[in-house]
Amino acid sequence: MYSYYNENTILYFDGAFVKATEAKIDLYGQSLHYGYAVFEGIRAYKTASGEVKIFKPKEHFDRFKRSCELIHIPYKYNNDELIAACYKVLEMNNMEEAYIRPLVFCPPNMTLKAAQDTHVLICAWEWGAYLGEKLLRVMLSSYQRPNPKAFKIESKSAGLYVNSILASQEAKEKGYDEALLLDINGFVAEGPGSNLFFEKDGTIYTPAPGNILPGITRATVIEICGELGIPLVEKQITVDELKQADSVFYCGTAAEIVGWESFEGQGFKKPWASSLGKVIQQAYKAKVLEKAFEREVIPA
Ligand code: PMP
Repeated sequence: MYSYYNENTILYFDGAFVKATEAKIDLYGQSLHYGYAVFEGIRAYKTASGEVKIFKPKEHFDRFKRSCELIHIPYKYNNDELIAACYKVLEMNNMEEAYIRPLVFCPPNMTLKAAQDTHVLICAWEWGAYLGEKLLRVMLSSYQRPNPKAFKIESKSAGLYVNSILASQEAKEKGYDEALLLDINGFVAEGPGSNLFFEKDGTIYTPAPGNILPGITRATVIEICGELGIPLVEKQITVDELKQADSVFYCGTAAEIVGWESFEGQGFKKPWASSLGKVIQQAYKAKVLEKAFEREVIPA
């Protein structure tokens, strides 16, 4: 079992910095019973200058707020203060490279009425690349992403992650590294905790928004494609198109950028080392570490 804290760990809880071992929550909470909570996943890096920097904190906390509003959880926080609290948590725990987890959750209420009040928690732990460094063997999940008419799927809500747990578990049980989920119309959507991109004939493709979580890493990849002059298309993608891809990758804050080795046991035309995904992976690493990035010229 991974240990996320020890007796010295400090977290931020409702405006105070307290020991993780001493913080308490109410077991009658609406969030615990109904999955009615919102969270974020953010990373901090030790940048090239030696300074510890949180990557895109404003974007993450804007999404945090929007996620709450979408499911009628009142948001009474000031995002600049929460960002400052993140830095303080890192400092108090002597962390340089860490994963930061803000969570808004609701007090006791066993009814199905929207929350009137909330609690906020920010904790952090040291976490390597979530899906590992190796290329992924991915299976087509038997689970779909939830119907956007049944849930606010652009809200990073706790309850939604039961779908992700089911899909991940199924993939692991079948001997794969990760799952790919389709949307309710049968188009390619995303992974249990990451967005998808693929390369075909020099262009990068990714599912259009609507049935996916609007990932901050996804937005960064789109930004990188713009900076590097890589053509990018957002559209509906079929499973057959994906199987014909030259290369594929997943991206997310926890996973960063990770290439696919195979999909349903079938490999791709381009080796990862000479794919556009690899170039984007290096550019992403440079961005989070605030290093200059020079694209290597890959021989054709
Ligand atoms: N899709 C899902 C379902 C996710 O849980 C995540 C992780 N937050 C992502 C995509 C990637 O989002 P981000 O790049 O903002 O971490």
